[in-house]
Amino acid sequence: MKNKILIANRGEIAVRIIRAAKELGYETVAVYSVADQQSLHVKLADEAVCIGGNKSKESYLNMNNILSAAISTGCNAIHPGYGFLAENSEFVEMVERCNIAFIGPSSKSISLIGDKSAARSLAKANGIPIVEGSDGVISDAQEGLKIAKKIGYPVMIKASSGGGGRGISIVRSDEEFLSAFERTAMEAETSFGDASLYIERFIESPKHIEIQIIADAKGNYVHMFERDCSMQRRNQKMIEEAPSTILNELLRRKIGMAAIKLAKAIHYVNAGTLEFLVDSKGSFYFIEMNTRIQVEHPVTEAITGLDIVKEQIKIAYGKELSFKQRDVKVNGHAIECRINAEDAMHGFMPTPGKITNILFPGGMGVRIDTHIYPGYEVPPFYDSLLAKLIVHAPTRREAIKKMRIALEQFVIEGISTNIEYQYLIMHNPDFIKGQYDTGFIARFNTLVEAENNE
Ligand code: ADP
Ligand code: ADP
Ligand code: MG
Repeated sequence: MKNKILIANRGEIAVRIIRAAKELGYETVAVYSVADQQSLHVKLADEAVCIGGNKSKESYLNMNNILSAAISTGCNAIHPGYGFLAENSEFVEMVERCNIAFIGPSSKSISLIGDKSAARSLAKANGIPIVEGSDGVISDAQEGLKIAKKIGYPVMIKASSGGGGRGISIVRSDEEFLSAFERTAMEAETSFGDASLYIERFIESPKHIEIQIIADAKGNYVHMFERDCSMQRRNQKMIEEAPSTILNELLRRKIGMAAIKLAKAIHYVNAGTLEFLVDSKGSFYFIEMNTRIQVEHPVTEAITGLDIVKEQIKIAYGKELSFKQRDVKVNGHAIECRINAEDAMHGFMPTPGKITNILFPGGMGVRIDTHIYPGYEVPPFYDSLLAKLIVHAPTRREAIKKMRIALEQFVIEGISTNIEYQYLIMHNPDFIKGQYDTGFIARFNTLVEAENNE
């Protein structure tokens, strides 16, 4: 029987996975919503199945329809991509029960560490530093208020099931606390179907440093170094790079070892990412684990020369990792810019609509992962990511130069994007020096807005 993979996702990541599967000689099945009928992943896969209406709930979150599609097309594996059902342990359990390989960790691992509050307890029990905060989820607003007082303001209220930067609020005083708590609980309920919240001390101007790990079912664990994802807008990543400019060898080793320790503690198999905040004194704190492929994985692929998605697939089919820790070496520097359908120069309004023309940049060390093409209509129903532009060069300085030229030569007509905004950041003196933290974009926006108002 031929190996056949259903890709339970859309957009650039579905395209990325189809390519990896094809390289391995596996067949692919795409699923799509009505709005995505003309999407590239549908055209590139060997087969495609419509799984429902435009709303994610009706299609990409529709577990029964996705499983039916997998069974009726004879798939023996499902790759979930990121977002949607990627970290849903109920879905993964259903996949397992159907005797289909899930290209990701077991439902058990996900239920152990997928909940962000539970992940904190697990890290703590394994001696990995976490941000000071609540023990577990908070039962009600009054209890939360007491904990916030004890930690001292500012604090962050965070959804246990949160992701993609949503379900997070910063609170600066007792007066703000109760209403922020109610608001965040409501947002968490509507976005994630789970209102549980926990609290963390707000770390001022930290760096977001994450460790890519990968493990096979034979007990081999490897970390693939860090990514610096501190360039964020509203807790959502916009630019990622590797290696980080702020880690020395000792700190790099310490965080890498912490990541492996936690992954081993839950017998994690497949690719995963452990996210940490690093403060100005160089102390690091675990914040969460993403039990899936991440948007920014190409940055790691660029500096290591290893294909993470192909490894993910092979691992799910029971193969051993094709490399050992000693084989993973950092070569040069990589930067990724997320190109989004949003009018970044005017408040980041989403800009769905028809793309009339595109010119992609290219050349040595330039990679584009995307699902867009001339004539493609960006639907208003899903996230705004249009393309990921990744550059790789011997040094950070050269990577920045390459990125500037690539952005300059990247033309998307018909809708507004954030290409010009990314271009501005690539010229910012603090970014060039590597001196930026998670507060950079908020400060930068104040400048852009001031200029717009002149
Ligand atoms: P990454 O962690 O890979 O950098 P993001 O945080 O940008 O990626 O999330 C990637 C996509 O997955 C976004 O569309 C985001 O909304 C979605 N997502 C992430 N976590 C969750 C979650 N827990 N529930 C639902 N969607 C999520
Ligand atoms: P998500 O699940 O949405 O990815 P995270 O817990 O990973 O949420 O946090 C997203 C971002 O929010 C972090 O990268 C960081 O910039 C910011 N953040 C989260 N927790 C804290 C904290 N305790 N102090 C300061 N910033 C934080
Ligand atoms: Mg995160």
